[in-house]
Parts: sequence; structure tokens; C-alpha cells
Amino acid sequence: MLSQLKGMSYPVPDVSAKAERFRASLRLGIANVPYYNCSMFSSGFPPIRSFRRRIVYPILSLVVALGLVLGQPIGAQALPWAELILRGVQVIQLANLSDRQEVALGSQINEQIIRSGQARISRDRALTAYIDEIGQRLAKASTRPQIPYTFQVVDDNRINAFATMGGFVYINTGLIKAADNEAQLASVIGHEIGHVAGRHAVNQMKEMATIGLGASAAGLNRSRAVALGVELALRRPHSRNAEYEADELGLKMLMNVGYAPSAAPTFMQKLVSASSPPTFLSTHPAATDRIARMNQQIPPDQRDTGIGLSTTAYRQRTSSLR
Ligand SMILES: [Zn+2]
Repeated sequence: MLSQLKGMSYPVPDVSAKAERFRASLRLGIANVPYYNCSMFSSGFPPIRSFRRRIVYPILSLVVALGLVLGQPIGAQALPWAELILRGVQVIQLANLSDRQEVALGSQINEQIIRSGQARISRDRALTAYIDEIGQRLAKASTRPQIPYTFQVVDDNRINAFATMGGFVYINTGLIKAADNEAQLASVIGHEIGHVAGRHAVNQMKEMATIGLGASAAGLNRSRAVALGVELALRRPHSRNAEYEADELGLKMLMNVGYAPSAAPTFMQKLVSASSPPTFLSTHPAATDRIARMNQQIPPDQRDTGIGLSTTAYRQRTSSLR
């Protein structure tokens, strides 16, 4: 898988005339196109002052061009400005990640999560097929149906679910057992798809690259990006706003598919009120606020209208865990 991804080719972005001349002078071919799609001066780049526009950008564009020419991050000299420029390049690269690149990076993060043993993927085929069936229906009804989604069950009794970029969603067996019905389980799967649809992991990675975390002076190369992605998926909580957005997107998916929307706040309330609330809720911001917001977003006459509320049917489909 890894070598397959390495072999994937990406569109070659435009290189400036200056870089072209430089390339010719070096007589280097563009054999290795960098992993990220660098298109300069994206809207995703933070506001700039005129000094930066006049001085830093020309240098930045040259560095980007050099990166394209050499096919890898430029080794920085021991100068702080060089490091700052490289960070800028990384931010631009992440801001312009195409769907295909995001999915490729997500596959590598997924592979690393599994290979490192940090998530033990269940071999229960029937259960995985059931989770996948719910997930695919929700993903189709999401704001980002165009990318492939992969739903996996993690053999872990802790109540947890997480996701990484490019459509990879993980649901612990502990969470499947804690839900009373399919609509409740779907509410969590929808929330995780919401993180993918909102590109929250990519944005988090972008923020970390901006402040220089997780990247060396030599740049945020692919293996560092993968390591950072694993860290983000497993250990870094999302911001409060990312949680609100994932809740809102998840709730919309739930209603689009036809599940009873009350399942989302009901399940969260159940988990918060438990004698030992799951860590993912205590590390996630303000569960009570989130419940209140979800309740406001549900039209009162539609609260319990919909499918997925049967406990008996749900217990049957998840009987291998009982
Ligand atoms: Zn979340």
C-alpha cells in the first residue's frame, strides 16, 4: 500500500519562469513531484502585511519552486527565516490538499494506526459490515459524499470513536455496546463523518505546522505528516468549534437518512450521566453545551420521528458483542 501510494503521480503545478530558469541551470528534471499540491498564495493563507507581500512572498515562491524542482523539502540552513518560510510552504501545501491527496494521506495514517497496534481492528465481518452499511448511508447524505469512506470496528471496550482525514472512521466495540439502538450509534458515526467533511484534521495539522509543531526545520515531509496525523486522530482533542460543527453536520446526516434525531442528544446525555463518563466526552469540550445546541437544532415535531429506535433489532444486529 505504501509503495503504491508513493508511486501515485500528482498533477504538476505551474512553476514560475524564474524557477524554470533555475531548473534549467541545474539541469534537473522534475522526476519526483512533491506529495502535496503547492499552489501559491491560497485563500487559506493567513492575512499578510505588505512587508511580507513584497519581501517574503517572492522568496517563498522561489522556495516553493525549488521544492518543486528538487522534489522534496529544501534542507534549511540554520537561519530562522529559512525555517519560517518552510513553515509557510507547509501551510500552503496543506491548505491546497486535493481530495485525492487527502485520501492518500489518510490511508497512510490509517495504515500506521493499525500497524503500530494503537487500534486493534475487529475481524468480526458481520459487525463490520453492519457498521459500514450505516456509515455509507450517512456519508452519502453528508456535505462531502464525493470521497470514499472506510468504517472500521476497533476491538476496545472503552467508549470511543474517532476519525482521520480522507474518510477513515473508527468505532470502538465499547461504544457499540453502550448505544441503545441504531439511531444512537448512527449519531456518533455521523459526528465522526462530520469531522471528515469539515476537514478538521487537515486544519489542525495546518495549525500545528504554522506554529512549527510536529515539523522539523527540514519541513513537514510525508512521514512527519503521517506521524502527526496519527497523533491527532488518537490523542489530540478537537476545538470546541470543530465539535459543534461535527455535531451539526452529524445531526443533518441523521435526519437526511431518516433516523430519529432525538437519538443524538439522548445518547450524549446518557454517556455524560454515566457513573464514569467516557474520557472522550471529558476531553471533548462542554458536553452539556453540545446537548443543548443539538436540542435547539432539532425541529420539536420531528424529535422522535424516524427509524432506528428499536432496541430489540439493534441487539440482534450486534449480538456477537453480547
Ligand atoms: Zn468529535
